[in-house]
Amino acid sequence: ADRVRPLIAGNWKMNGTAAELPELKRIADGVDGTRSSSPYDALICVPATLIDRAIKTVVGSPLAIGGQDCHGAESGAHTGDVSAAMLADAGATHVIVGHSERRADHGETDIDVMDKTLAAHAQGLTAIVCVGETRQEREDGQAMDVVDTQLAGSLPKDAAPGNTVVAYEPVWAIGTGLTPSLLDIEAMHDHMRQRLRERFGPAGARFRLLYGGSVKPANAGEIFGISSVDGALVGGASLKSDDFLAICATV
Ligand code: PEP
Repeated sequence: ADRVRPLIAGNWKMNGTAAELPELKRIADGVDGTRSSSPYDALICVPATLIDRAIKTVVGSPLAIGGQDCHGAESGAHTGDVSAAMLADAGATHVIVGHSERRADHGETDIDVMDKTLAAHAQGLTAIVCVGETRQEREDGQAMDVVDTQLAGSLPKDAAPGNTVVAYEPVWAIGTGLTPSLLDIEAMHDHMRQRLRERFGPAGARFRLLYGGSVKPANAGEIFGISSVDGALVGGASLKSDDFLAICATV
């Protein structure tokens, strides 16, 4: 089967003001070629306050800009929240939903994540749906069951390769410098692929499956070498242009 075109996505989390726009510009300038000729797509998900300026900073480059969360409702009485329409209006093309930090800090459930995914789709945004087990769940041999439940509960019926990306991010690997073994990553990605095929038929083979959790220039090449890994969601290492571009260069 043809390999799915990789996506290298950065997540700046709660980092980034005008002072970091030159760093974003260096990423935009360093990303390979045009979207059609480069061997991968590149995306940085910035804080909502920075999206408009980020778009202006990267204009003309192949780098896409995304948000990190959106509300599940179209609009209304949700003080402090950001809607998918607002992200799209600001120029975002993607949005991360269900990141483990949102699930932990804000108690987001699979139903919330499904609502957010639907809200993103309604605005033409690609949703990057995050799933992944905790350390305890892995130690208990529950990792695949946990991911199955999250996938089944977070992905809406309308999910398709063109509007949804799945990111496998073991919670214990995020920001810790720890990663699963290559065999464990491969086993989980193969398992998720199988589940997507069961639910979505042949289209299930074409969803991008990203790995996330302590991806660095030193380990990216071997992770991308796994055939069921279609790119990465990169936190800490996306803040520095040298690191992010070095990761992209290993695709
Ligand atoms: C993330 O924020 O999704 C992430 C994977 O972070 P890090 O790369 O820093 O582990």
